[in-house]
Amino acid sequence: MLFGALEAGGTKMVVAIGDENGKILEQKSIPTTTPAETMPLIEEYFKRKDIKALGVACFGPIDLCRESETYGYITSTPKTAWKNYNIVGELKDKLGIPVGFDTDVNGSLLGEITWGCAKGLTDAIYLTIGTGIGGGVMTNGKLLHGMLHPELGHIRLGKLPSDKGECICPYHEDCFEGLASGPSIEKRWGKKAVELAENDNVWELEADYIGMALSNFCMTLSPQKIILGGGVMHQKQLFPMIRAAFARYNAGYINTETLKNLEEYIVPASLNDDQGIMGAIKLAMNEYEIN
Ligand code: ADP
Ligand code: ZN
Repeated sequence: MLFGALEAGGTKMVVAIGDENGKILEQKSIPTTTPAETMPLIEEYFKRKDIKALGVACFGPIDLCRESETYGYITSTPKTAWKNYNIVGELKDKLGIPVGFDTDVNGSLLGEITWGCAKGLTDAIYLTIGTGIGGGVMTNGKLLHGMLHPELGHIRLGKLPSDKGECICPYHEDCFEGLASGPSIEKRWGKKAVELAENDNVWELEADYIGMALSNFCMTLSPQKIILGGGVMHQKQLFPMIRAAFARYNAGYINTETLKNLEEYIVPASLNDDQGIMGAIKLAMNEYEIN
């Protein structure tokens, strides 16, 4: 059985066809410009592909509340062309198949839980640290939406005294995204993150903020595993440093068997950067089942 998958991002739309085993049979990328330009290209791709349903893992904020009048909309995004845009309605209308919908990061988490390093777990977090910081959460076996959906990148961290940079979030003076995203590293150190690979100070500070945030997530959401993806996490030296910072912030307080092995607890994404698109396949499968 074939399913369509759309990973909708602010710069590009990845479209793919996959099967019920998460196998991606074909895939392509379409630039994200305006709905008028981009949506017809997406619809053209999926037409005549014999897919049973489509899954959309989407940048946000988005409306995930099925009872809401604006369910399936991209809501208050700074990407103005897409503000208050009914992406699910448009796709359902043009393709005439069920359309599953969730955040991009919940999509990635679902991919990892279904086919990746978090297989079988009921409580896990997927965090992307890239242009922005966002997180998907599964709790008691369900992707967490709540009132809106979690915004793990905007928790307040408290700026470290050694940090001479500034928080770049336009809303908050000391949030995780504003202090630790790729662009915040670039602003603080005056070079692109990838060009700073050899500068230990950069990664010590970065790991400290990430470890602090993960400790907060561990205390509040009690995940069985925390998965880290996104461009900044290509700096693999960060992993042991983050685990050490996490342990320092936890300070021995949570003392479960799981936390005895932090190498298994704080892990890189495991699906070769396909976790998002594979998660979108699973969103399509789930939607097909309930229809
Ligand atoms: P997006 O978040 O836009 O989907 P990415 O996850 O690739 O895309 O994140 C892009 C950010 O990650 C940029 O700020 C970039 O500087 C940073 N980045 C990309 N590759 C690396 C790398 N190898 N090392 C460190 N930072 C990187
Ligand atoms: Zn913020």
